[in-house]
Amino acid sequence: MITNCIIHSLVLILTFQVICVVLVDFDSQICESLPKFNDTVRQQIADISGDIQKIIDFVVNGTDSGVTYNELAKFVDQFGPRFVGTKNLEDSIDYMVDLLTSEQHDKVYTENLTVPVWIRDKEWAQMISPRIKPLNILGLGYSVGTNGSVVTGDVMIVKTFDELDRRSNEANGKFVVYNFDYMGYEHSTKYRGLGAKYAAQYGAIGALIKSITPFSIETPHAGAGKPLNDINVPKIPAVSITIEDAELFERLTARGLNVTVSLYMEAHMEKDGLSRNTISEITGTVKPEEIVIISGHLDSWDVGQGAMDDGGGAFISWRALSVIKKLGLRPKRTMRSVLWTGEEMGFIGVEAYVKQHINELNNISIAMESDSGTFTPKGIGYSGQNPMAQCIISEILKSFKSINATNFSVNAEVSDIFVLQNKGVPVAGLTNHNDKYFYFHHTSGDTMTLENSRDLDLCTAVWAATSYALAAIDDQLPR
Ligand SMILES: [Zn+2]
Repeated sequence: MITNCIIHSLVLILTFQVICVVLVDFDSQICESLPKFNDTVRQQIADISGDIQKIIDFVVNGTDSGVTYNELAKFVDQFGPRFVGTKNLEDSIDYMVDLLTSEQHDKVYTENLTVPVWIRDKEWAQMISPRIKPLNILGLGYSVGTNGSVVTGDVMIVKTFDELDRRSNEANGKFVVYNFDYMGYEHSTKYRGLGAKYAAQYGAIGALIKSITPFSIETPHAGAGKPLNDINVPKIPAVSITIEDAELFERLTARGLNVTVSLYMEAHMEKDGLSRNTISEITGTVKPEEIVIISGHLDSWDVGQGAMDDGGGAFISWRALSVIKKLGLRPKRTMRSVLWTGEEMGFIGVEAYVKQHINELNNISIAMESDSGTFTPKGIGYSGQNPMAQCIISEILKSFKSINATNFSVNAEVSDIFVLQNKGVPVAGLTNHNDKYFYFHHTSGDTMTLENSRDLDLCTAVWAATSYALAAIDDQLPR
């Protein structure tokens, strides 16, 4: 699928958690016409192919097999969901600092930053006409509550913002229900991000937004709405509802029945809090100031266990360093694992990181992030446009034949590090067989049950070997 990253960045600003999915086939013929690649870099990669094989053997078939799964299970079973602004997230960060220290990474530290604190508290909704039916809901991050009272009104169903504009005179005093056609995650996030604002400008009393997923068993999916401070319309509650309820409302209203809903929410903002990005490093032996970032986010939504989003991505990232350390490999440049905080409420951790490390951005050879599942890996997607850099990564991936993870695509599936990409840093994401990712994303179904020990080993191996190889070759990736 080819999409346009400029559009993505606009959507990103509006809605958060947009993943830039642009998987373009790579034409390896271009590598043959690059003299430096053929004369020297290809040989450098061949020289470390033994190390790459060692990493794969150690993690997939050796004594480290099963470790990523066991560590992730211990972590998510102990802490469960890790929502930004909670003591639980901060306790889980303390746990990680202790764990990384015991893993003897060369440096382990955290960096403080300010985070918004949104409290869900109690919430419920039910359809009260034409019959009583409790609704499975999740208030959306940054949403206001209902001021201690129950808000009741009829629903108005729309499929698009255009339809809402056309029928705007019907919205006053109603709940606007967004029953959009699901055409992929990115396409739909605008309703979650801006649905309340659009509805409020026409006098609606709340926005009920169909969960962004192609599949449901009455499951509401959480997510962040846009902070409404800068938008000059009344603040109304923004709520995620299930596919089943959105479709039920649509069928009932199409038969000419009035659907009436009651909503109660205590959601509110509190004063800003503190959180931390959690960082550990293996120091480079030749060019320690140059950096390969390997990352995932440690925070999660406040439902489920955050095992898939993004426990798996965070854990294969720090595990990559542990594997390199245990094997006694010494990369030329520094490998830095970053466990971002505050991703779910809008890339808060990475935004702070960019400010704190602004003078270092040119020294980041590549930033890698896994935040779209750690199912059976396919390979790596890379965002940079430089052909030499593309050839280097695709050449490294040839070493993953034995684990069937050689796929190289141009452009990356990433979340937090989109912010680094916008600053000119080349970024890469793990590609994997994640067809069911959005079935579970941001739900109470995101638990350890989704994770698989063998897949986590394979992802750890790809992640560790790719990041190590990029830190071990002579030069930083050209931009
Ligand atoms: Zn995520």
